Amino acid sequence: MSRLDVEVVVVGAGVMGLATARSLARGGRSVALVEQFELGHTHGSSHGGSRIFRLSYPDAAWVLLAQEALSIWRELEAEAGEPLIERYGSLDLGDWRPNREALSASGISFELLKGRELARRFPLDVDGGETGLHQADGGIIRADAALAALEASAVAAGAQLLEGTRIAAIEPNREGVTMSGDGISIRADVVVVTAGAWARGLLAPLGVALEVEPTRETVSYFELATDEPVPSLIDFAEGAGPGQLGYALMAPGVGLKAGIHHTGALADPDEPGVVDAEIAGWTAEWVNKRFRGAAPKGELETCLYTNTADESFVLERHGRVVVGSACSGHGFKFAPVVGERLAALASETGRARQA
Ligand SMILES: Cc1cc2nc3c(=O)[nH]c(=O)nc-3n(C[C@H](O)[C@H](O)[C@H](O)COP(=O)(O)OP(=O)(O)OC[C@H]3O[C@@H](n4cnc5c(N)ncnc54)[C@H](O)[C@@H]3O)c2cc1C
Repeated sequence: MSRLDVEVVVVGAGVMGLATARSLARGGRSVALVEQFELGHTHGSSHGGSRIFRLSYPDAAWVLLAQEALSIWRELEAEAGEPLIERYGSLDLGDWRPNREALSASGISFELLKGRELARRFPLDVDGGETGLHQADGGIIRADAALAALEASAVAAGAQLLEGTRIAAIEPNREGVTMSGDGISIRADVVVVTAGAWARGLLAPLGVALEVEPTRETVSYFELATDEPVPSLIDFAEGAGPGQLGYALMAPGVGLKAGIHHTGALADPDEPGVVDAEIAGWTAEWVNKRFRGAAPKGELETCLYTNTADESFVLERHGRVVVGSACSGHGFKFAPVVGERLAALASETGRARQA
């Protein structure tokens, strides 16, 4: 059995773990990032080509967090030498009034566009009586490129990456935390658990009850009728599937990615991901109503949400254990700022009592 001794171990190398390891390593901490699969795998929450980026949120606190994240994404772009955020705009249909208030309070510009104007600018079917909120700084994050950029930056700053290593148990004690798995024993001062849908099971034996429910969501891909990019759309107006909101965004090199928010069944993350044909059907129906001439590509994939009841994130410290559970279907855009918050929690001194 090999042994490793570092200041901080981060368990789980999805986008949150990568961002946390990057922040810690850049802050001069010795850090190991441990991942049960290979980076970029498709069993968790962070895979795929794109995620919505938007400043438009119904609460000014989220707007501020998205602004903070954007500036770190821009720094990372400069470091990686390639674009990570594509500025296609974001569009909210339905009750966008809280978003309008939050954006106004944050001094961020936006446009309210009538249905006709929206249909003229974009290949969208929007009723003449509808109005949408368009915000130009929204768009997409190139998710796979973002993961690669975070990894490169973390490794360049000194983080050690251990792939194919599943941490079986975490044991905090007075001197530190020990972990073992797949032929390695690791000792650290602090552990950060960014294990996505697996976090609840990993934390329960430590007496840390994470109030989250993993669900397996199904997303579908479509061919757009034109080469013109569309803004990332969140549709509160046209009830999709069982009355949930439909969302759609550009998928670079593929076309359009779409789904119906929070419709997947409760899931065991260790079970293989199986797409839900009923959700795919609702998605195709909604896309057919909203995107003129879009055609299904027959490409479907699954992705895990880890949901808190109010879609907030859990970022907290219990003795030597820091918990970072930031999914709930909208976490990717915030990863760099979540990484900084978790790194700061891990670096707090005087909090190393046993969890
Ligand atoms: C369908 C879908 C659409 C989404 N759309 C958007 C969007 O448009 N915009 C947006 O901002 N966000 C979006 N999100 C949310 C975003 O993708 C997630 O918030 C984010 O990817 C969560 O990352 P994570 O690192 O917490 O989890 P994960 O990516 O799942 O990473 C956790 C990692 O921990 C590893 N792990 C678990 N247990 C262990 C262990 N014991 N030992 C070692 N490794 C372990 C896992 O293998 C995994 O790699 C969406 C999510 C889904 C599912």
